[in-house]
Amino acid sequence: MISKRNLVLLGPPGAGKGTLAVILAQEFKLAHISTGDIFRREIKGGTELGKKAQEYVNQGKLVPDELVADMVGSRLAENDCEDGFILDGFPRTVKQAELFDETMKKIGKNLDLVVLFEAGNELLLKRLTARITCKKCGVNFNKLFSPPKEEGTCDECGGELYQRADDSLETATGRLKVYEEQTAPLIEYYRKCGKLASINSELPKEEAYPSLVALLK
Ligand code: ADP
Ligand code: ZN
Repeated sequence: MISKRNLVLLGPPGAGKGTLAVILAQEFKLAHISTGDIFRREIKGGTELGKKAQEYVNQGKLVPDELVADMVGSRLAENDCEDGFILDGFPRTVKQAELFDETMKKIGKNLDLVVLFEAGNELLLKRLTARITCKKCGVNFNKLFSPPKEEGTCDECGGELYQRADDSLETATGRLKVYEEQTAPLIEYYRKCGKLASINSELPKEEAYPSLVALLK
């Protein structure tokens, strides 16, 4: 069992936060909140929120802080977050972290741990540009590192696989830059309050996952 259950996964795009979050959420019954997945769903559904987020997401820019923080705030108040949650892709700026602190205080919850996923840019770019995603269920595969059994088809649900617009070389490079400029300062932010731990996410998921779980005991 794990004792740390209110979690933030921090790290650059392509580090594998989403992949490990799915496994962790399932094993320990935690709510998995991926802000990127929420935006992609809302955009596909053509909702108001989707329309507001669309330009930013497709260009690999950050959606405005208040918009994301409000969305996460209402998501955290839902029942399935009661026994723990994994935030995957939020907070992404110091402003978002401050808004998140306020929200947690307001709803009477405590953040247990922030896990930093560490990997070098060269590997990250390789992973991002070879990544293919299921249109139907959102699961990721990778042409180089974890190809699907049948080309173009999701192993999980049979859905069609595609390359995300923001996984092109140009946009992926831009997203890494956005991470360094706007998100990396959060490392200091959480180190200062003693909530930071890290894993080596250059390792394949079979090795990275147990080291993640060990941090949560
Ligand atoms: P990755 O982690 O691979 O970059 P995500 O799926 O987490 O991709 O995010 C995709 C896009 O969604 C981001 O490039 C950004 O436009 C938007 N987004 C997701 N989370 C946030 C956030 N916390 N703040 C601002 N924008 C966000
Ligand atoms: Zn699928």
